[in-house]
Amino acid sequence: MMLTLALSKGRIFDDTLPLLKAAGIEVQDANSRALILPTNQPGVRVVLVRASDVPTYVQHGGADLGVAGLDVLLEHEAHQGGTPMLRPIDLKIARCRLSVAVRKGFDYAAAVRQGARIRVATKYTALARQHFADKGVHVDLIKLYGSMELAPLTGLADAIVDLVSTGSTLKANDLVEVETLMPISSQLVLNPVSARLKRDALQPLLQSLRSSLQP
Ligand code: ATP
Ligand code: MG
Repeated sequence: MMLTLALSKGRIFDDTLPLLKAAGIEVQDANSRALILPTNQPGVRVVLVRASDVPTYVQHGGADLGVAGLDVLLEHEAHQGGTPMLRPIDLKIARCRLSVAVRKGFDYAAAVRQGARIRVATKYTALARQHFADKGVHVDLIKLYGSMELAPLTGLADAIVDLVSTGSTLKANDLVEVETLMPISSQLVLNPVSARLKRDALQPLLQSLRSSLQP
């Protein structure tokens, strides 16, 4: 039986490899251009997909399990009617936070207080909509796919909702963080059918991942 694990290139791939290794799984040909990578275990392979496609692959069975940022996972769930996916393990990698940032000099608190409509550019439209609705803040959301920092600098938006880790990207772009929506880390997500039908193959993998997380 084959277990297929969906990962995205970049931070998540780089941070997941050591966890897999500690669990006895070594990904092979990691530097090739192939999108399906074998591992040292004949029953486990890795597929490389776009970060935002990981939940889709796992939900629809293109992969049995995957690693997705909580940001990507919750945004995906919100667009799917809010049904939560199975996420048995918080891998605590690729940690950052989802925050609101504005151009230095834009008085966010005053805009909120005055009940002004705030133009917010983000890739996370569902999470942003929920957040501002909960706070009773009026927003016009502008969907972007990347380089959110540019939006306030060009006048496209007053604010952005984006991931922040050190804050150096914000700083380099004259932006300041004014509010945090939630802390983010990567989650192991599981296809519900695989969870049942491939239980015997999955359990030892999940168990070794869990124990490789213990400091
Ligand atoms: P895509 O190209 O599909 O839009 P992406 O460019 O967002 O994906 P990455 O930048 O690799 O892909 O981010 C993948 C995940 O890593 C994010 O969903 C988030 O959970 C986490 N992440 C992103 N930026 C940071 C950061 N600065 N620090 C820590 N973790 C981060
Ligand atoms: Mg990125």
